[in-house]
Amino acid sequence: MTYRVPVDDIVHALKTAAGLDDLIERNMLGGVDEDTIRAVIEEAGKFGAEVLEPLSAPGDRAGSKLVDGKVVTPPGWKEAYQQFAAGGWGALAAPEEWGGQNLPQVIATAAGEVWNSSNLAFGLCPLLTFGAIDAIEAQGSDELKRLYLPKMVSGEWTGTMNLTEPHAGSDLSLLKTRAVREVDGSYRLFGTKIFITYGDHEMTDNIVHLVLARLPDAPPGTRGISLFLVPKRLVDKDGTLGGPNDVVCAGLEHKLGIHASPTCVMKFGEKGDGAVGYLVGEENRGLNVMFIMMNAARLAVGTQGVAVAERATQRALAYAKERRQGRATKGGGDGMAPIIEHADIRRSLMTMKALTQAARAICLVTAKETDVARRSGNAAERAAAAHRVALLTPVAKAFSTDIGCEVASIGVQVHGGMGFIEETGAAQIYRDARILPIYEGTNGIQAIDLVTRKLPLEGGKVVEGYILELGQTADEVRRSNRPEFGRMGERLAEAVAALAEATRWMGGALRQSPDAALAGAAPYLRLFGLAAGGIYLAKGALAAARDGAANGQAQPIAVARFFAENLAIASPGLKESIVAGADSTLAPAEALA
Ligand SMILES: Cc1cc2nc3c(=O)[nH]c(=O)nc-3n(C[C@H](O)[C@H](O)[C@H](O)COP(=O)(O)OP(=O)(O)OC[C@H]3O[C@@H](n4cnc5c(N)ncnc54)[C@H](O)[C@@H]3O)c2cc1C
Repeated sequence: MTYRVPVDDIVHALKTAAGLDDLIERNMLGGVDEDTIRAVIEEAGKFGAEVLEPLSAPGDRAGSKLVDGKVVTPPGWKEAYQQFAAGGWGALAAPEEWGGQNLPQVIATAAGEVWNSSNLAFGLCPLLTFGAIDAIEAQGSDELKRLYLPKMVSGEWTGTMNLTEPHAGSDLSLLKTRAVREVDGSYRLFGTKIFITYGDHEMTDNIVHLVLARLPDAPPGTRGISLFLVPKRLVDKDGTLGGPNDVVCAGLEHKLGIHASPTCVMKFGEKGDGAVGYLVGEENRGLNVMFIMMNAARLAVGTQGVAVAERATQRALAYAKERRQGRATKGGGDGMAPIIEHADIRRSLMTMKALTQAARAICLVTAKETDVARRSGNAAERAAAAHRVALLTPVAKAFSTDIGCEVASIGVQVHGGMGFIEETGAAQIYRDARILPIYEGTNGIQAIDLVTRKLPLEGGKVVEGYILELGQTADEVRRSNRPEFGRMGERLAEAVAALAEATRWMGGALRQSPDAALAGAAPYLRLFGLAAGGIYLAKGALAAARDGAANGQAQPIAVARFFAENLAIASPGLKESIVAGADSTLAPAEALA
């Protein structure tokens, strides 16, 4: 079943949840209009469906291989990457100064969903390059920008992110990779990084590694970490490629999914002299720079969650229309009914659709706030939007990737036994999806970030203002009194009230009982996602109701209502688990004996 780009759903979410018309009117998107956005998403979809998707299953079977110390990607991968670069897709949101198109983040996010729906293992490569471009653009020296950014923006070179070491994953304070200063101002790096995505490949002539390392006189912990740009091949001052740097891929991991994406063990300075590196930003402030890259990458990974959920939903829907089993309760006809007519399958499909659309809206709103934070002419508005980005990024990452796995799992179930068999593709989506809650900061770490760092922003005013806005939409739904909305307004009001109460409780718990706050962090993030996602879908339903259901606008209302009445309804229970579940969560050690 071929991938179909959900352009109407994406544009609907942009218009209703992210306020696209207002952004365009206020010239917040650099002169881009709705038609252009639609055209770019459609073109991205064409590339995804025609070039990337046909490689996804064969790429999964072949995997990337380490041959004579070099990574070889699956057949067709290199050509697809070259087409990707030639099409200018790597340059979408990059600054014009370096050859980019400076298109808004909302477009880049929508396009990212499309490529990752088509082929998740492929989509990861540009995802990391975009993050590396952001970090170099923000903190690299003029010389580094001049030498590296044009090639990365054009897609001639790719970028990686080298954080993880065997003993330093979630906690980077323990990392051991060393950097030594050289008299010419460069550095030499020594150490081993693990799990490095696209750490090596043959698709481009060069790879630009961003590597976290520690200087000999660095203070301990996270305050002593610096960031270095380490090219696979050295680059002369005039930009020409020189010899190989002292960086090698020493091994590839065997994984549950994303087999085509090479996950590399990287050795720096194995040959003795050290890998040549260049400081990005200031010494010992590397984690701050890396956070620029990680925040962009976290939204992009959240979008991967949406992407797998969309793909799983499309496959399940197509299968449910074809597969016949059992008789429909409504009767009619002698033969077996398509399984889509069974109530339990309908519930499954509605859950898939509603979770996907809610997560998409959260990601697109986060992207929109990124655009406002970068492009508004008003400093106060820029600052407020930057706070929103900070607040929403962990939710976009964790909620969307959690639901990505859930939806992929339901997708397998809808296929019955065939879901467990590789040929339908449902199994690959399920396997591929499972990495998403783990990398780019595990979802547990995202929940901790949300609770301990984002809720206290501006003394709690950022989250307070956000919840107030959610409540206004819930009120609007209630006041509208539309029979087709069912109990949507009531359920959303309960969800927002639960979020408000849990947020107040978190404020106190963070001061008085941090362990209790941390015990509730994951359900808090889920509650946040359900309330926010439910409200964004309701905005879509309100807009659809204004347009008139006769105009083919029934679906947004049906999906929003289902979400509120069947999914957001879990919110009061989650709130109880947060405010009253810590004691039993932190049960005595014997409970886990
Ligand atoms: C396929 C793949 C690709 C990857 N790509 C890259 C890459 O390109 N670059 C890169 O640098 N890394 C990459 N990673 C590494 C990835 O980011 C880490 O695996 C991830 O950050 C978790 O670190 P860890 O594996 O050491 O788990 P750990 O940190 O050991 O965590 C184990 C468990 O403990 C939990 N935990 C840890 N600390 C806490 C805490 N303080 N409180 C509560 N719970 C906690 C975690 O949430 C997790 O559930 C990749 C990993 C994989 C598998």
